[in-house]
Formats: sequence, C-alpha cells, structure tokens
Amino acid sequence: MSPPPVVYSVIEPGIARIVLNRPEARNAQDTGLLYALNDAFDAAARDVAVKVILLAASGPHFSAGHDLRETGSIADQMAPFEPVGTWCGFGCAGAEGRMAREKEIYLGLSERWRNLPKPTIAEVQGKCIAGGLMLAWPCDIIIAADDAQFCDNTVGMGVNGVEYFAHPWELGPRKAKELLFTSDWLSAEDARALGMVNHVVPAADLAAFSLALARRIAAKPAFALKLAKESVNAAEDAQGRLSAMTAAFALHQLAHSHNMQVHGMPVDPGGLQVRSRAAS
Ligand code: ZN
Repeated sequence: MSPPPVVYSVIEPGIARIVLNRPEARNAQDTGLLYALNDAFDAAARDVAVKVILLAASGPHFSAGHDLRETGSIADQMAPFEPVGTWCGFGCAGAEGRMAREKEIYLGLSERWRNLPKPTIAEVQGKCIAGGLMLAWPCDIIIAADDAQFCDNTVGMGVNGVEYFAHPWELGPRKAKELLFTSDWLSAEDARALGMVNHVVPAADLAAFSLALARRIAAKPAFALKLAKESVNAAEDAQGRLSAMTAAFALHQLAHSHNMQVHGMPVDPGGLQVRSRAAS
C-alpha cells in the first residue's frame, strides 16, 4: 500500500491540518493528489467544529507543480474520481476533453478552495513552482519559510501562465509580467514585500508560527470569520478578478491547442527541460 497523497487531521479543537504527502515527488500534483486535497478541504468545511484550516507539505519542498509524468488518456486519468463540477466530457476529443479536465481539476478546484467559507493558512517551504502556486494562492494567508521560493515557469513551456491566473492580483501587474516573462524565482522576502506572503519565518518555526496564528483566528466567532473572508473576496471579485481569470483560462486553452498543432503535445517541449532543472 502506498501512503496517502494527502493527510488530514484535526490537530486540536477548532484547527484542521492538511498535509501534502508526496515528498518523494516534491509534492507534484497528480489527479489523485488534487482530489484527495479536495476531499480534505471538504471534510474541514463540513466539520462545524473546525474553524481554521492549515495547508502544509511534507519534505523540503511545498510543491513542484503538476505531475507531468502522469500517463494514460485524460479520460483514464479522470475516471477514478467523482467530478465536483458539471462541465465533464473528459473523454471528448481534442481541446474539448483537455479544457474539461483543466476546468475541473485546476481552475475549478483552486477556485473552490478559495471560496471555502473558513480561514485557510498555507505553510510554504522550499520550492513552490507553477501548479504549486495554485495550492498556496487560494489560501487566505500564506506563511513562508525563509527558504521558500516561488516561480511560474510556464511561459517557457508555451503557455501564458498557470490555469488559476491570479498573478496580477497576487503580485501587481508589473511584477506579474516580469515574473511570467522571465520565469525568475521570487524569494520569500520579495513575495512578502509584494503582499503575496503575510509573514516570513525561519524554516524551523514554520509550523509553530502558523499554528499560533491559527489559534488566534480560531478564537474569533466562526460566522464573523466567514463573513470577513467573503467580504474581502467580494472586493476582489468586484474588481473583475474572476472575469479576468476566465479570460486567461481561455487563452491558456488556446495555447495548449497551439502547442498540440505545432509540437504534438500540449506544451513546448523546450520549456519542459528548463522546468525539470528548476524542480531539481
Ligand atoms: Zn493547462
């Protein structure tokens, strides 16, 4: 029996902790990990005793992004899992099946977690690459270890950025463009200065600092926390966040289709080599 890709536990009254548990794969996200993570978020959402949710990762790195080693057709990859959205059609040919899958497990799940009506805190250490951002960004608060580094290297792979295109909201438009154009690493401290990260702490203190923050939040009334979160999220949405993200997702699908026509695969293979160097 292989270990579960995600470990969920209520670590003390009011506080749940979800741990990505594929350290040997640098917590790369295959379909099973994403659905296990969704199940864990759902468990925390449905447990009225849980007030705050921590999202952590085992091993030296938070997440190396999507697991590009996953094999089989899109339909085969999706078959073992119950969809949470209604788009479906994962077995459809061409762009239709791919868009369905990415709308379900990338944009759909990340947006779902972003809207979960309880405070969420991501604990990020080591590398957080591309799809890794789609796990950290939906959380309300991000605590970074001082060794954390963030990167979206997907432009080199011939696409516009990760499917959950929150870059302009997380980084501001200019830095979003620079980091997309260059694939440069963003340090924990620079991420904090940009407002993407709340606090940077010594790596050894990451879990304790995050738990202490979770305890302070859990002491507040659950309904007021839910309303406060909803209010901030509504402000972002009033600025057009979801509309812009939907447009970027459509362009992302165009890029995959272009790459299929030009390279015979959904990404530019030249960028994949750069990616594997970044992840190592
Ligand atoms: Zn994609």
